[in-house]
Amino acid sequence: MNDITVIGSNMIDLITYTNRMPVEGETIEAPEFEMGFGGKGSNQAVAAARLGSKVSMITMVGNDMFGKQHIENYRANQIDTTGVGIGTKNSGAAPIFVAEDSNNRILIIKGANNELTPSMLDKHLDQIKHSKLIILQQEIPLETNYYAIELGQKYHVPVLLNPAPADEHLNIDYVSQVEFFMPNETELATLTNLPTTTVEEITLAAKSLVDKGVKHVIVTLGSKGVLWINETEHMLIPSEKVNAIDTTGAGDAFIGAFSHYYTAGETIPEALKHANHYAAISVTKRGTQKSYPTSQEI
Ligand code: ATP
Repeated sequence: MNDITVIGSNMIDLITYTNRMPVEGETIEAPEFEMGFGGKGSNQAVAAARLGSKVSMITMVGNDMFGKQHIENYRANQIDTTGVGIGTKNSGAAPIFVAEDSNNRILIIKGANNELTPSMLDKHLDQIKHSKLIILQQEIPLETNYYAIELGQKYHVPVLLNPAPADEHLNIDYVSQVEFFMPNETELATLTNLPTTTVEEITLAAKSLVDKGVKHVIVTLGSKGVLWINETEHMLIPSEKVNAIDTTGAGDAFIGAFSHYYTAGETIPEALKHANHYAAISVTKRGTQKSYPTSQEI
C-alpha cells in the first residue's frame, strides 16, 4: 500500500505569453506558448513523490490526448495510477494568459475532474484506508471531499484539506473533522468571514477554526512564510530568502513536501521547516511541476 493518497484534480496548463490582451473580435499574434502538467491534486502528488513518498493518485482524466499524457506523467514520477479513471468529458484545462506586465488572466475548465464522484472512492477503499495521510483540495466535487473526510474519520486516517480554490459553500461541519487545514490568507478569509491582512488577524481567524475542532491550521503566507496553530501551540516560520522568479504552484509544492516529511515521521515543526525550504527552491525556477526538485536536488 502507498503512504499518501491524493484525491484530487489534474489540469493541463496552456500558457500564452502575450504583449497585450486582444480586444473583442481582434486576432493578434503572441510570441510564446507553453504547456505544463498542473491541477492542485497532481502538483501536490508530484512534489511528495519527487521527495520519495509512495503516492497513490485518485483522479479522473479525460478521454483525450491530455488524459494519456497525465497518466504517463504520473508514471514518470513513480505515482501509483491504479486510482486514475477515464471520464467521458475532456481533461481539465487551464488556459492562462500572461501579459507583458506579468499580470495573469486564467480560466479553469474542470472537465473530467467533475466526474470524480464518491463512488470512485469506494472502488479504491483498500488504498484509502491503509494510507498514512489523505490529501484533498477543491477542484473536484465538494461531495467527494466530504465523503473522503468521512472515510478518514471511519478508518482513522488523518486528512489534510487544502481549501483551494476558495469556495464559500465549504461546510464547516466537515472542515472541523480534518487533522490539517491548510489555506492561504484569502482562503482563510473566505471560510471564516474574518479579516486576514495582518499576522494578528490571521492568527485570530485560524484560532477560530481550532476552536471549532480542526486539530492543526497551517496558513501559507507567500514570502512571509507559514503560520501553524493548534490548541496549545502557535508558531510563525519565516520563509527562506531567495530570488523568487515564479511563485506559481508554490502552495502545492509546500503541501506535497509537508505531507512527505510528516508521513516519513518528522514532527510538525520539522516538516514545516523542510517544506518551507522545498517551496523556496521551487519559486527560484519557472513553471509549476517543472520547478519541483527531487530529494537528490535538495
Ligand atoms: P499558489 O496558489 O500559487 O500555489 P499559495 O497562495 O497557495 O500559492 P503561498 O502562500 O504563496 O501559496 O506560498 C506557499 C509557500 O511557498 C510559502 O509558505 C513559502 O514557504 C513558499 N514561498 C512562496 N513565495 C515565496 C518567496 N517569494 N520566497 C520564499 N518562499 C516562498
